[in-house]
Amino acid sequence: MAGSVGRHRRTGVPPVRGKGVSVVKALIAEDDPTTRMMYERLLAKWGYEVISARDGDEAWAVLQGDEPPPLLLLDWMMPGLDGVSLCRQLRQSDKGKRVYVILVSARGRKDDLVEAMEAGADDYLVKPVVPEELRVRLRAGQRILELQSDLLTSREAFRERSRRDSLTGLLNSGAIFDVLARHIEIGTLQGSPVSVILADLDEFKKVNDTYGHRAGDAVLVEFARQLQDAVRSGDAVGRWGGEEFLVLLPGAPVGAALALAEKSRARMEASPVAAGEHDIPVTVSFGVVSSADVPVPGVDALVEAADRALYRAKAFGRNRVVAAEPIPAP
Ligand SMILES: [Mg+2]
Repeated sequence: MAGSVGRHRRTGVPPVRGKGVSVVKALIAEDDPTTRMMYERLLAKWGYEVISARDGDEAWAVLQGDEPPPLLLLDWMMPGLDGVSLCRQLRQSDKGKRVYVILVSARGRKDDLVEAMEAGADDYLVKPVVPEELRVRLRAGQRILELQSDLLTSREAFRERSRRDSLTGLLNSGAIFDVLARHIEIGTLQGSPVSVILADLDEFKKVNDTYGHRAGDAVLVEFARQLQDAVRSGDAVGRWGGEEFLVLLPGAPVGAALALAEKSRARMEASPVAAGEHDIPVTVSFGVVSSADVPVPGVDALVEAADRALYRAKAFGRNRVVAAEPIPAP
């Protein structure tokens, strides 16, 4: 290989960091030392964090690293991998899809521009490069990169929101189902138990009928907060249905889950929920199960077992914690 990763240099003054403005990393690939130094100086002056490569192979090596620079200034004619080939190779790789590429060449014919853009370049500059033009072209590229990053951020935020219950902020039933399925799989592989608590607010309809729906919502939010507060990191809490909540404790034996449920039960019984001018007494029933007690643990089997235990807690008079009866293997 003509270039090695060790040969590229980081240059430039400490980047100027404005409030909330992130410094953009730019990669220069240029074989002519004088031109390369001019780029380095200019880009550093304009606030870019500059990484510089002496040919295409060296640039390619830089781009294989973690967090590759998103903004690329590539010379076309270089020994080894030239700018257009590098661009083409980049666009075929996963990492190279999101970078912004400005190709620079002494070749100023329309055909050359078309060839460069067909190879995946975003912009094309003809040598000799005028600093002011380079500055605005880089800035245009930076704008595109920022838009792209905003788009990805909001897509991520949207995805996260679609996993949450809007009232309590807990995982919604679909999301907790997925998390549970994954933990059952991991637990089966590692031979460690997964415990599940299904909690249901007692006579919740009465709360709504007596105090109104807003007070009912306040109760749901408060119980959600208490559950979230009670679990260990690594546990997961979700809203399973209207007034039903599911807690998932990976690696915890049933005894630990029972203890957590009992603590939560006692806490709710002891302190009424303040909603407006009312202090609303709330009790909760719990069904608890461990994957160790279910012959073929799966989401449905576990939740069904927890649900049966919960049903018994209700039948025994509510406000209690009941463990699922172990299901004998067939
Ligand atoms: Mg050259």
